[in-house]
Amino acid sequence: MDVPALPPTLQPVTLESLESIHACLHRVVAYCAKCGRWVELDLERLIRLGHGMRTLSTMTPRCLRCRTRGTVQLHPPTPKWDGYPRHGPAPS
Ligand SMILES: [Zn+2]
Repeated sequence: MDVPALPPTLQPVTLESLESIHACLHRVVAYCAKCGRWVELDLERLIRLGHGMRTLSTMTPRCLRCRTRGTVQLHPPTPKWDGYPRHGPAPS
């Protein structure tokens, strides 16, 4: 029995390395608990500098303000905000 192919929106994503995270349009943000500051990492720059195969579990970014080691989080792509949905009678 053949398994039907998944539509493009349901294809599994691979988030093992910075390159694959970037290819899947996800973002990586770093958090400094001491400053309470979030910063999005520039994945294109990190990949260009040779860090494309690094994984999140090996990353311990250092805060540029206080030099404390922070944590990283993976964020999925967010849809562009285009206003609240319009409610009303269906077009005829
Ligand atoms: Zn800090």
